[in-house]
Amino acid sequence: MNSSRTWKTGEICRVSGTYRCQNCRFAGREVVREFEAGKILPMCATCPDKDVTWRLMKPAGAITATA
Ligand SMILES: [Zn+2]
Repeated sequence: MNSSRTWKTGEICRVSGTYRCQNCRFAGREVVREFEAGKILPMCATCPDKDVTWRLMKPAGAITATA
């Protein structure tokens, strides 16, 4: 079952935030990028693969201000 926190290259970004390339992670690299909701998710600049999986690490709007 596809997690609600992962999207692939070419899909529309649903949540603005910080994403990590899963393909790179499996290869031992740490590639983190920020994407905005509504944008098409790009290819990974580091991966040789055409399609990669981006995993949402930290949503941009999830800052809880509990003062
Ligand atoms: Zn990658």
